[in-house]
Amino acid sequence: MPSFNPPLRTLMGPGPSDVHPRVLAAMGRPTLGHLDPMFVAMMDELKDLMRSAFRTKNRLTIPVSGPGSVGMETCFVNLVEPGDTVIVCQNGAFGGRMKENVERCGATAVMVMDDWGKRIDVNKVEEALKANPGAKALAFVHAETSTGVRADAEALCKLANEHGALTIVDAVTSLGGIPVEVDAWGIDAVYSGSQKCLSCTPGLSPVSFSARAEEVVRGRNTKVQSWFMDLNLVMAYWDSADGAPRAYHHTAPINSLYGLHESLVMLDEEGIEAAWARHAKNHQALRAGLEAMGLSLLVDEADRLPQLNAVVIPDGVDEALVRKTLLANYGLEIGAGLGALAGKVWRIGLMGTSSSANHVTLCLAALETTLVGMGAPITAGASAEAARAVLFN
Ligand SMILES: *Cc1c(COP(=O)(O)O)cnc(C)c1O
Repeated sequence: MPSFNPPLRTLMGPGPSDVHPRVLAAMGRPTLGHLDPMFVAMMDELKDLMRSAFRTKNRLTIPVSGPGSVGMETCFVNLVEPGDTVIVCQNGAFGGRMKENVERCGATAVMVMDDWGKRIDVNKVEEALKANPGAKALAFVHAETSTGVRADAEALCKLANEHGALTIVDAVTSLGGIPVEVDAWGIDAVYSGSQKCLSCTPGLSPVSFSARAEEVVRGRNTKVQSWFMDLNLVMAYWDSADGAPRAYHHTAPINSLYGLHESLVMLDEEGIEAAWARHAKNHQALRAGLEAMGLSLLVDEADRLPQLNAVVIPDGVDEALVRKTLLANYGLEIGAGLGALAGKVWRIGLMGTSSSANHVTLCLAALETTLVGMGAPITAGASAEAARAVLFN
């Protein structure tokens, strides 16, 4: 059996995004023991880098060993106990997973539903909070990767705080791409993912819990149902605030953590505000190019995520054939629609390293030539210049 040699792709789907060579190089460095003092020192730097990305002073800020879904589950299993009520917003695929998590914790999910592609209606959330005065938490997805919609996280957290509910926020696709202000917005539990706007390899989930949420975890009536995700146990490895030596819980994914460290160092070098501005600009360039072709975005302008663009598929176009052709001819991956949007949109990601002028320009040219080759009804010849005018004016 020969070694596996993957081809070099350009990843512009809903994640993973392109991993920077610096991150891949960091992951190839020598493996240390998970209690080696040099490794423990790196863990402390990593927590500080994560705090700065989340804009928080939260002590309990760690990368969970597992993809974003494990970060999600960590937040729910630690905060939600049997018999609790949690208000869950759903306007796409990932809100539905939050509901699953709440119910698997033995709690009741009160759903606030909005259409796929539309924003979470803050008024409906307020009504749900009023109608369920004892609700333990409000849970919502900040950047709905299945639709490209941004939630008004600040307003939703303010409402929850006014009603005495904790907030559980999915920032898997938002962290690094748009502002996530954990302390300023009063977020109690937040989880992200390594492979979206942080452009690290998949498999790690940065999470952060407020002091209030930490108290809830410590004061539970029942044991956390998951031994692996029980933060009371995990923290004995990740935190030695009281000076106690780190205790083994599970073997940390050492080399993956080198990668996350490097990607956060790169974010810090760029400056997080500059990263947000870069994501915004590349989104505007892509939008301009798509519109010059006669294509349109699904989501209302005010609610669009710069890092995930849901593009309406023109009538009569075989959307799967377009994606297949982009991959075969250009090594370019874009995403298909999910759930209610399957067959209706493509999802073009401009996340992390994949948010660049090169990515925008390649994607527009590849999409344009592919659609022209299929005889699709689009305007040719204008998209590259439309993008250039945004990128280099
Ligand atoms: C990708 C994603 C997840 C799940 O992350 P995995 O790393 O695939 O487990 C959760 N929520 C949102 C909004 C996502 O985009």
